[in-house]
Amino acid sequence: MLKVTYIEHSGFLLETESASFLFDYYKGTLPQINSQKPLLVFVSHKHGDHYNPEIFELIKEFPNIYYILSKDVPVKWQMVKYKEQEISLKEHIHIVNKNIVQEITISGHGLLSIETLRSTDTGVAFLIHDKEKTYYHAGDLNLWVWEGETKQYNNSMTSAYYRELEKLKDKKIDVAFVPLDPRQEKDAYLGIESFLEYTNSHYVFPMHFWGDFNIIDRFLTKYPEYQEKVMKIERAEQEFLLQPDL
Ligand SMILES: [Zn+2]
Repeated sequence: MLKVTYIEHSGFLLETESASFLFDYYKGTLPQINSQKPLLVFVSHKHGDHYNPEIFELIKEFPNIYYILSKDVPVKWQMVKYKEQEISLKEHIHIVNKNIVQEITISGHGLLSIETLRSTDTGVAFLIHDKEKTYYHAGDLNLWVWEGETKQYNNSMTSAYYRELEKLKDKKIDVAFVPLDPRQEKDAYLGIESFLEYTNSHYVFPMHFWGDFNIIDRFLTKYPEYQEKVMKIERAEQEFLLQPDL
């Protein structure tokens, strides 16, 4: 059994039997997290709606913590700050670049394999292999085409997006977090729709929708074939109990 809690925007907590994964937290109420389990904190990029340096405070409560941070996240001064408090933050930080595969040994849990994709905005998307399960968090990797942009911009955006999506083709993903941004208006569905088409994902959580929960219904009205896969988030702090295939 897996549990996913929607926090805010692109922020989610995913809990498995033996570990907790916190993604792109920047605001909102953190759910109760079991301090006996290892806590893995992921930051896809430095933007203010994906990263809040408050995440480093968690080390005080969770000694078995791992920070997996995109290279662009500014951490140097954080290390200095915590060093002054005699907390060795550095040992808990793993910096990842785009297009890498990195294995991390999680104490009391085992091996975690992290692949990154290149975001079409800033930073990375994460593809995480943990035991038999695979999780995906897109960060800001999305098909960011806009009505007001030039054709050239939109075309190069489109090829950049599909270049990344190609790497996920037919991949079995148990839980995925993918942008669905109402600011793109008529183009808002393009990125997530292609993601659903390209990948073999079981549970897909829309994100980055700026509080416009209704966009999920609008998407599903247009694409009813994804009713089973797309999770209907209706409010902050909502919990989902998931039963992925074994
Ligand atoms: Zn963003």
